[in-house]
Amino acid sequence: MQNTNDFLKDMKKLGFGLMRLPKRADDPAKIDIEQVCQMVDLFMDAGFTYFDTAYVYDGGASEEAARKALVERYPRDSYTIATKLNAWLGKPDEAAAKQQLATSMKRLGVDYVDFYLLHALQLNNRSIYEDYDLWNFVRKQKEKGLVRHWGFSFHGTPEMLDQLLVENPDAEFVQLQINYADMENANVASRACYEIARKHGKPIVVMEPVKGGLLANPPEKVAEVFTKADPAASFASWAIRYVASMDGIMTVLSGMSNLDQMKDNISFMKDFHPLDASEKEVIDQVQQIIRDLGAIPCTACHYCTDGCPAKIRIPDIFRAFNIYKIYQDMAQAGRIYGMATSQNGKPSDCIECGQCEGACPQHLPIISLLKEAAVLEK
Ligand code: SF4
Ligand code: SF4
Repeated sequence: MQNTNDFLKDMKKLGFGLMRLPKRADDPAKIDIEQVCQMVDLFMDAGFTYFDTAYVYDGGASEEAARKALVERYPRDSYTIATKLNAWLGKPDEAAAKQQLATSMKRLGVDYVDFYLLHALQLNNRSIYEDYDLWNFVRKQKEKGLVRHWGFSFHGTPEMLDQLLVENPDAEFVQLQINYADMENANVASRACYEIARKHGKPIVVMEPVKGGLLANPPEKVAEVFTKADPAASFASWAIRYVASMDGIMTVLSGMSNLDQMKDNISFMKDFHPLDASEKEVIDQVQQIIRDLGAIPCTACHYCTDGCPAKIRIPDIFRAFNIYKIYQDMAQAGRIYGMATSQNGKPSDCIECGQCEGACPQHLPIISLLKEAAVLEK
């Protein structure tokens, strides 16, 4: 059987992240399967094979969309699927956590999963994975042939990553958040985590290379630098090529949400060329600009919102606040803020319970940031 280090040579460096699939115009709660089929066809035609979903994405609809758009339409050996076991979102008990693999396989319509991950390990959930004995659970699923390769996705500190890889040296790969804006960001520590994974010889799947879409529409000063360097290149192409150029990368997940994004990603990843020296200098320049701007590094993952007693749409408020702070565009920020708060809580409704800060993979000081964002209430 092929091992994960073989994938470093063989796998093309773009993976289709199924976390932000397009929604139907006539029913925005449902995934637009027809468009997903077209996206899958373009992706497969270009020679890409890695699909990444999770038990918790879209309440299971992401896995079901993968079955309809991919599994039911392509031979099983022509693609690989990654999905994940989440032991903390929704607070499943041990039996429910262990049942997730069977449910994922049923939703996906497959009898094995190529890559199985313990999902979003971080400081505040690490003990659950240990208490439920889930590390051994995934090992057993591999022995049974239900899982071909296993690893974990990670949002914790570099020290915690090092410990996990010492304690679990048979983890075959790790999934890390790496993008040019977060390399030195203390909250995310992309560079330090990358270096630890490399030290342990683990192949790396990159998530959030475009930082939840933020780097596809970067601050004006950053956009100017990129446009001057290459007027034809999309902003997302700089972000994805940056991480795909690093050593030890298995694949780079792009959470594509429509056909245009798929076409753009394929245009520069089908015949991938790593960044050259002058392009790396451009990245150095924009990294400095972003550090100077000081935006809230929220990726809109929404892990913080489910348990908020004040029903505050935290990521939408931060998005509005970043637009206000970086672009000084109060009109646009006000519109986003108005939509976020018309049926939900405002920053001033926060009772400072701290639930959101414990759930945030970026370790953002949400309570104090909401106090700053209260400027938008005026
Ligand atoms: S601290 Fe505030 S924003 Fe966070 S969950 Fe509690 S009420 Fe909501
Ligand atoms: S504040 Fe943190 S948990 Fe909430 S959406 Fe942003 S990054 Fe995710």
